[in-house]
Amino acid sequence: MQLKDQSRDELEQLLIAWGQPPYRAAQLWHWMYRKSVRDFEEMTDLPVDLRRQLSQRARLDACWVRQRREDPVAGTVKYAMALSDGLVVEAVALRYRDGVTACLSSQAGCRMGCSFCASGKSWERQLTSGEIIDQFLRIGEDLGGRRSSRVVLMGTGEPLDNYEAVLQAVRRLHDGTGMSYRSFTISTCGLVPGILKLAAEQLPINLAVSLHAVDDALRQRLMPRAARLARVDRLVAACMVYAESSGRRVTFEYLLLDGVNDRVEDARRLADLAGRVRAHVNLIPFNAIPGSPYRRSPPGRVAAFGARLREAGVAFTVRRELGAGIDAACGQLRQRGSGSEADVGQRSQ
Ligand code: SF4
Repeated sequence: MQLKDQSRDELEQLLIAWGQPPYRAAQLWHWMYRKSVRDFEEMTDLPVDLRRQLSQRARLDACWVRQRREDPVAGTVKYAMALSDGLVVEAVALRYRDGVTACLSSQAGCRMGCSFCASGKSWERQLTSGEIIDQFLRIGEDLGGRRSSRVVLMGTGEPLDNYEAVLQAVRRLHDGTGMSYRSFTISTCGLVPGILKLAAEQLPINLAVSLHAVDDALRQRLMPRAARLARVDRLVAACMVYAESSGRRVTFEYLLLDGVNDRVEDARRLADLAGRVRAHVNLIPFNAIPGSPYRRSPPGRVAAFGARLREAGVAFTVRRELGAGIDAACGQLRQRGSGSEADVGQRSQ
């Protein structure tokens, strides 16, 4: 049994069934989430018999760092995390002046098939809540106990396509580490039912929506599955519901592709959509993938695009590239960790 797949109540029920008092669950929870220990023997306030029983019947580890690559300039660390069945997923630690952001994967592969993304070209399985949580805890360990202050579900996979496990992981990390819900961001390619379900939770979790195109025809080309599931207008309406119920500002992610979606008309329409939601816009420079038909927009076009947003009063940022030196882009390290030297990939979302 993987303990990080269990809620605190489930752990309590388990320990009661083993003849333990309920408060043992709080002690175990503390060791797992606050102390992040890897060995039941370190849980010194638990009785020896219980520690033995746990080591025989339960597991603490859901993933392991198989490979790490650090960008010597930005300090970004990219991890290939091995799962118990041998699959490998990616996680990234992004260092900022005010703390570390942990970027976690929610699936092994992705079913959405976005045309610019290497992760969308393969599908293995859903991650469990424990596997998502343990990526976060492993990063903390690797950084010498320095716990990340923010979590973004923006690694491999579409988080809202693994809704229950993702939300359980967020709730448990909130409960176990004391991090505020405002410290979590769920990034989606735009699954409207998932956005509305998350809105109904009424939690102040940040939502980032990968828009990447302002009209349905182009979105269909770039993100065929996501575009088939919801038209742009319906997606924007769902974002309005989310912003209203969560009290959080939605972010529109927009990958700038040379000659594809970076025209002034695109910026105008994007400003209109962002204005309806009062969304923040994050412009993302494209990291070239060998064999990809897409190229990065030239700096002048990025500047003109941003100027149009500014004129329209839309708040925007151009994503800092904190990992270019280590290929911090979705799919790349996983390919290497799996034994292939293929240097393919693009940041998820
Ligand atoms: S961009 Fe995100 S949703 Fe699209 S295929 Fe890649 S991982 Fe999946």
